[in-house]
Amino acid sequence: MIVRVLGSAAGGGVPQWNCACTNCAAARTGAQPRRSQSSLAVSADGDRWVLLNVSPDVAGQIEAHPPLQPRGVRGTPIASILLTDANVDHIGGLVTLRQAGDHRFTVRSSAIVREIATAQPAFAPFARAPHRWLAADAGALPAADGDPIGAELRVRAIPVPGLTPGFAGREALRGAVTAYALTSASGATLVFAPVFAAIDATLAAEIRAADVVFLDGSFFTDDEMIATGVGDKYATALGHAPLTGPAGSLATLATCELGGRRCFVTHVNNTNPILDAGSAAAATLAQHGIAIATDGLVLEL
Ligand SMILES: [Zn+2]
Ligand SMILES: [Zn+2]
Repeated sequence: MIVRVLGSAAGGGVPQWNCACTNCAAARTGAQPRRSQSSLAVSADGDRWVLLNVSPDVAGQIEAHPPLQPRGVRGTPIASILLTDANVDHIGGLVTLRQAGDHRFTVRSSAIVREIATAQPAFAPFARAPHRWLAADAGALPAADGDPIGAELRVRAIPVPGLTPGFAGREALRGAVTAYALTSASGATLVFAPVFAAIDATLAAEIRAADVVFLDGSFFTDDEMIATGVGDKYATALGHAPLTGPAGSLATLATCELGGRRCFVTHVNNTNPILDAGSAAAATLAQHGIAIATDGLVLEL
């Protein structure tokens, strides 16, 4: 299984177009890497690809990753799309993929995410022919003809604590956010959980059983957006567990025996001090054995 990090930032990216915070300014001068909005591309064979979330940056991400580019005059090797939730930074790239012609995308998400997303006219066409939008609420995802999922890629859906998007009321509903576990032909498992309000017992068990994990690293502290002067919302109000604090992810992950596995944070917000490699926050993350995903990172499992 080939795993490529297409984007590693939260909504807005780094730099974000209207932001001159410390990290955005550093990314503009080249002192920090630029980061597009978070997404992974996964393939069992390098031939057919699955996107895990499809960010508004998807066109540039395809151009940066030749295996995702067309192989004929028109067409795409992207067969399937898995969505963790209905936030626009995770589904907005569907708007870019609308010129698919008669190519069929198989989109999968929880039923509630499908309902929220397809209520928006921009996304509704993906639930109609030639496409199909299948419910992936929990457990092993069934095969669907022509789809690598359920065939060469085994995938399980894992409901995690989380909120519906702001445009859908920020409700704490089961199915609002889903993580995925993907198992390679060799039996190695990748857990993709770029959004969660907490690491519950189920997600903690999935992390312990995985070989590689990509976890929600949006915010270092709960009040980070307020403290950096870019907004008035707490991380938890946006449905993200901060990394630190009594209910933070690092405290939970300390019980997850991370030593034997590769652990990355992704979906990192541009306010997050871990993006400054010389910061105390970056040192704290490293002490926990956790790295920051970077755009273009490729792993083979
Ligand atoms: Zn997001
Ligand atoms: Zn910024």
